[in-house]
Amino acid sequence: MPTYKAKGLVVKSYRLGEADKIVKIFTPDIGLISAVAKGAFNIKSKFSGRLELYNVIDCEFSQGKTLDIVSQAEILEIFNSISCDFLKFNYSQLISEMILKTQSEKASSHNLFKLTYLVIKKINNIGINDEVLLQVIIIFFMINFSKIMGHTPMLKYCTVCGKRILKESGADNNDKTGINIIEKYIDDNGFSIFFSIEYGGTVCRNCSSGKSGIIFLNTREASLLARLFYCHLEELTDNCTNIKTSSKLLDLMAEYVSFHSEISIASLAYLKKIQKDFI
Ligand SMILES: [Zn+2]
Repeated sequence: MPTYKAKGLVVKSYRLGEADKIVKIFTPDIGLISAVAKGAFNIKSKFSGRLELYNVIDCEFSQGKTLDIVSQAEILEIFNSISCDFLKFNYSQLISEMILKTQSEKASSHNLFKLTYLVIKKINNIGINDEVLLQVIIIFFMINFSKIMGHTPMLKYCTVCGKRILKESGADNNDKTGINIIEKYIDDNGFSIFFSIEYGGTVCRNCSSGKSGIIFLNTREASLLARLFYCHLEELTDNCTNIKTSSKLLDLMAEYVSFHSEISIASLAYLKKIQKDFI
């Protein structure tokens, strides 16, 4: 039986029958692998604790007729604060869902793997019950996911007529964060931007009139969107916004990803429902 090796992140696992486990592993080199770990739920299984969700593992697989079979698994890194935290786990499920619904076997994506790995690591390392920061991290993931998938949201120009919307002042030309750029824009344009999911970014005031589906972003929302668009992961902190702003941008980016990647993100609706019912 042919064998192969791969390193990756477990993005889904579930029981199959009495004791077997199906794992879906996102790898940088060969995309998404679906495989069965036989006897993984047996007490004395050699896989015990190794194929848990969000573990980074080094595996050997045997090619099967329908599913490949995990023959060896070694842990490279464990992110175990995710599975035991309600919010971390459920927000991480959004990431899993986006990967599972857009990635396929034998399609390498080093950039998307790196983004996913670093964001999962960040979620693992932040404090508990910090829903604002979790939402900010997921928005960051969705923005960069869209960039990698070729659906970069356009912020600097009107997506309809091409008019420049975000202005760069002379002093801000070296500003890589984009914060000054959007603040300059906000100063000039009345503290708001218009955003269209369908058109893929900002729309100028003229083009926004009479169009359906235009989303109005106030100063705080527009600033955070621009900041997350340009910043690095390590720059994300829990004091950059409030839950109202992060919730609105999370809904916006979830809708953006759904529309442009042609997927539904069911885990966001599920998360909102269980929070409403139980918290
Ligand atoms: Zn326009």
